[in-house]
Amino acid sequence: MVKIESVRKSFGHLEVLRGVSLDVPPGGVVCVVGPSGSGKSTLLRCVNRLETIDAGRVWVDGELMGFAEKAGRLQLLRPDELCRQRQEIGMVFQRFHLFPHMTALENVMEGPCTVKRVSKAAATSHALALLDRVGLADRAGHYPRQLSGGQQQRVAIARSLAMNPKVMLFDEPTSALDPELVQEVLQVMRDLAASGMTMIVVTHEMGFAREAGDHLVFIDDGLIVEEGAPREVLSNPRHERTRAFLGQVL
Ligand code: ADP
Ligand code: MG
Repeated sequence: MVKIESVRKSFGHLEVLRGVSLDVPPGGVVCVVGPSGSGKSTLLRCVNRLETIDAGRVWVDGELMGFAEKAGRLQLLRPDELCRQRQEIGMVFQRFHLFPHMTALENVMEGPCTVKRVSKAAATSHALALLDRVGLADRAGHYPRQLSGGQQQRVAIARSLAMNPKVMLFDEPTSALDPELVQEVLQVMRDLAASGMTMIVVTHEMGFAREAGDHLVFIDDGLIVEEGAPREVLSNPRHERTRAFLGQVL
């Protein structure tokens, strides 16, 4: 569903991704861990083209991201085509970025109504179903400031799902939450994983990685240092850098 091939990305002289390759099969849940500044967020942003890449390729569901192939040559995709590609990829950030002046329901409806031109009635019923799915059926009329961080993050997940993405990217979705609110968000993500959603999850929640992840990737200094079955990597890391990192977070 997602194929990342030899992706490189620099900011000025700083090479942040130094040739990263990763395959995520349909329904796969890949967890990405690594020290701060190792390139995790940049990797996610390269998947949905919030960043351009310097080298390599990214495919989502067989479609090359960001480029069109014409007569054997690659051309940059037109902006409207790029928008269409991005809509297939949901992203959830550490900070929830809900629209503060809109209710939970309106936040979830916004994308389908304005971008996909779905009718208000259809968007409403879909949004209500999604709020129910994330356990917030009774909060549809609440504004973000009336919701806890965990509830806001669940609205943000519902809002992403409203666009019917093929893939969901999560960038440390529980890192900004008070400890007692982490599990309610992880539970929504576990349910999503169990429903067959393809997911790439940057997280420091090793319990989630162990139980919900199919594959664990340890990235350091812009390179995948080690990867494999989560249990295997977590209990028996082979590389010194992985051991050192896990020693700090576990
Ligand atoms: P992580 O998510 O693993 O903490 P990031 O991908 O956010 O790491 O960042 C990796 C490195 O790239 C860091 O050194 C960061 O400062 C740098 N970086 C990220 N985004 C930019 C940017 N837009 N401009 C310049 N440097 C950036
Ligand atoms: Mg990050």
